[in-house]
Amino acid sequence: MKCILCGINEAYRDGICIECLTSMKNVSYDKINITVCPKCGSIKINKRWYYNNPDDALFNFVSRMLEKKNNSIKKIYNYLKDDYINVNIVFDDGIEKNVSIPMDVSRESCPVCNKLTGSYYEAIIQLRTFSRDRSHLIDTARDNIINDIKRYNVNDPNSFVSKVVNLKEGIDIYLGKRDDAAKVIKNLDSKYFIDTKVTKSLAGKKDGKDVFRYTHLIRIFDLEPGSIIFSRGRNYMVKSVEPGNINIMDLSLKKDLTMDEKTFFSSNFDLIRRSEKRRFIVISNNGSETELMDEKNFNIVTIKGIIKSDSIDLYNYNDEYYII
Ligand SMILES: [Zn+2]
Ligand SMILES: [Zn+2]
Repeated sequence: MKCILCGINEAYRDGICIECLTSMKNVSYDKINITVCPKCGSIKINKRWYYNNPDDALFNFVSRMLEKKNNSIKKIYNYLKDDYINVNIVFDDGIEKNVSIPMDVSRESCPVCNKLTGSYYEAIIQLRTFSRDRSHLIDTARDNIINDIKRYNVNDPNSFVSKVVNLKEGIDIYLGKRDDAAKVIKNLDSKYFIDTKVTKSLAGKKDGKDVFRYTHLIRIFDLEPGSIIFSRGRNYMVKSVEPGNINIMDLSLKKDLTMDEKTFFSSNFDLIRRSEKRRFIVISNNGSETELMDEKNFNIVTIKGIIKSDSIDLYNYNDEYYII
């Protein structure tokens, strides 16, 4: 049977052909206004910027708009073109219809790209050492921080390093997002024995509210075992350091102490002397003592205890030798 409307095609349903059924379907839609960032390709829809998968955000937006304005839509396929979106709509009754929805595209640099070009920052991490000398620990800490921020940036474009400044005494790292500072410091704390101090300063006002910048001073403990430090009239030898804890020996009492970061750094220790480590060859063990010879100057020393190995490192302080 021929279609009762056009009289040309075969009837499909209720005496009407598919072409006529399709042309009877009206699709209502709003014109789409979007802003595209020419630098990174992110898209602004309804005042909100979409940085990750902006095309998906646009398709979701268009689908929701079409579903709101039309009944009985079963499925929507989008195809993005330069200034329109091609949409294929499947209705509940199986009839499909293709529409092109015009798009008004304006171009504007997004807030993140504005921040990047303006060297924007919310926090500074100042990497320093306990000894105040430049150490390789500063460089590995910097690499750790930069890698952390790169990882955060995958999910949040506001996470970025806006500047790295090399100084004689350390490195300053400027961060685009304030909260990242606490996260990278927590990661540093799991790898190093560190002191952390934060100060905030007023950077200006935004929407009537005070905006603060945070400066985190990180001091990484950088002394080798055997180094001599001083606090409150007493000298100590550094025995070992690990994240969160330090072992030191009170040299007048010959007593070992373990301190956490808070206790250690609030005790105002000062460096007296870096480690003087010497290699000694074991000559003889006699009952409770061991005789050893300095590998370099052949000095002979005797220390308490039996040493099983052929040679050992001893740490000198005030003509006394210590095993760590
Ligand atoms: Zn027809
Ligand atoms: Zn951008």
